[in-house]
Amino acid sequence: MDLSVKPGDDFYTYANGAWLRTNPVPAKETRWGSFNQLRDFNINAVKTILNESANNKNAAAGSVEKRVGDFYASAMDSAAIEKLGYTPIKADLARVGSVKDVNAILNEVATLRTTGTGSPMFGFYVGQDRKNVNNMVPQLSQGGTTLPDRDYYLKDDARSTKIQQAYKTYITTLFTLTGVPEATAKKNAETIFNLEKKLAAAQMSRVEMRDPYKTYNKFSVADFSKTTPNMDWKSLMAKMKVTGQDTILVSAPKFFTELNGLLTSTPVADWQTYLQWNVLKSAAPYLSSDFVNANFAYSQVLSGQKVQTPRWQRMSSLTDGTIGELLGQLYVAKHFKPEAKARMDEMIANLIKAYEIRIKGLDWMSAETKEKALAKLHAFRPKVGYPNKWETYQGLAISRNAFFENVRNSGEWGYNKMVSQLGKPVDRERWGMTPPTVNAYYSPVMNEIVFPAGILQFPFFDPNADDAVNYGGIGAVIGHEISHGFDDSGSQYDKDGTLRNWWTAEDLAKFKEKAKALQEQYDAYTVLDTIHVNGKLTLGENIGDLGGLNAAYEAFKMTKQGKSKKKIDGFTPDQRFFLSWAQVWRGNTLPETTAQLIVTDPHSPGEYRTIGAPVNMDAWYKAFNVKPGDKLYKKPEDRNKIW
Ligand SMILES: [Zn+2]
Repeated sequence: MDLSVKPGDDFYTYANGAWLRTNPVPAKETRWGSFNQLRDFNINAVKTILNESANNKNAAAGSVEKRVGDFYASAMDSAAIEKLGYTPIKADLARVGSVKDVNAILNEVATLRTTGTGSPMFGFYVGQDRKNVNNMVPQLSQGGTTLPDRDYYLKDDARSTKIQQAYKTYITTLFTLTGVPEATAKKNAETIFNLEKKLAAAQMSRVEMRDPYKTYNKFSVADFSKTTPNMDWKSLMAKMKVTGQDTILVSAPKFFTELNGLLTSTPVADWQTYLQWNVLKSAAPYLSSDFVNANFAYSQVLSGQKVQTPRWQRMSSLTDGTIGELLGQLYVAKHFKPEAKARMDEMIANLIKAYEIRIKGLDWMSAETKEKALAKLHAFRPKVGYPNKWETYQGLAISRNAFFENVRNSGEWGYNKMVSQLGKPVDRERWGMTPPTVNAYYSPVMNEIVFPAGILQFPFFDPNADDAVNYGGIGAVIGHEISHGFDDSGSQYDKDGTLRNWWTAEDLAKFKEKAKALQEQYDAYTVLDTIHVNGKLTLGENIGDLGGLNAAYEAFKMTKQGKSKKKIDGFTPDQRFFLSWAQVWRGNTLPETTAQLIVTDPHSPGEYRTIGAPVNMDAWYKAFNVKPGDKLYKKPEDRNKIW
């Protein structure tokens, strides 16, 4: 803490000052805070498991330990990987480099997807139909670009220009590493950048993409094909292993009509180069070190990271990302305690109870809408720790001696698994995060809140800590995820997860007005020189924090400590609650990463998450004696209250 600062002037520094000064971002990281420290702890725990598995000569063939160990051993065999150079993608480069016409281009777009080789041109996935959530349907979205956001192609300020240049250098380097003469490689970089720029211009903004109605466009496959005459979706879908589907959901129809035009207005030779680039960029992290280093040099310009993350860490993350529910079984056996689950279940029940009290007490909502909100709240399904039913990755071949094939195989296996869900009942036991993940999520179509084992540790959660610490930490995280069901986007889904309005017109208008005031509060936060928080992009997360912290506080007040005034280490229970919240969000971030996150991340920076919710809570003013004249002071009538 920094006790020389008044909490009412700068609560973030008051709660975290000494930590922030003594914990600079490590050279191999881009940000460093509570999340990163816990992630670092987990990745080291994972490393130990992976090393033990890889070194266990007695693991039975086909066992979880054997498969995990083999995958990691292959990933760490850098001598073999070095020797191969770019051999693993030679055939792909030659093949996509010889496409002759639009049809052949589209065939390759399908093949690269189904074989886990790349995902060019557009986005595709299979997911629940949000107006008919028991159906799994094929869904198309905008895509085809490489830089983190369309803005990076379209803006020409100094920061964007520098990144565009680094991207072109990266493209040039990868092509020259495959034997392409430098002049041609440079020309390729211009071709790819210009083509991706056109795709970027056709994309919707991140803010537009937050509207679940605008991005819900159902077409019959035949009708959609009429809007894109150069793309016959019936045959294209079949090539993408999607059969027996008459309809398709499209998030950005305009993107596809533009893409349709580009297909014929762009020379075939340019598409060849574009497809080669897609093969190259997907493979680069798994090839020899000259490819890996070029990839890092490029990412450095985006993130500011000083030193490359060590190989063991990258490969541990990769193992988690590809066969995470095999690794997860070994992880939870060692690091997840049943007592933690029992305590979490109890806290979730208390948070739901607190939320119920708060909904009932809202002074701006009609009884009619309250009833629907409560029905939704009581239909929430919590998932804690790890899945009831583990993914077995049946049919996925893993060899100890073939790293690149393992990565490809898992990409292909994942694709097949995804399309195999079509026509089947929705798998409600599925998890969207792996057990070691330090994060949590809400799914509107499932109406579920999910907390992987990885986040159920200090400083979010500590079975031995007092309630103030746990409710200000994981309690607020639980409240945050619940609030996503009631944020600007999630509130448009009903208790069954269906996108369907359940609000009276008057209540909805009031909600939008309240949301707009919160948006303006965050818009005013400046992050870096001229960059400020995007209140519209971060609105859902900010509603999540505001609703979540209020509910966590309400639940905390039901505990014995919440009702007492007994100080610990000189702080009252209420002070400890808000300090715990503040310490969860402490962190240092490299300026380059900050600039990128402001564009791409729907979460506000930690500093503003720390203060954004408390400055709207009367309890915070009382706990720290915040008075008019203090910098963070807001008049009672200006404090934002939603849930
Ligand atoms: Zn969130």
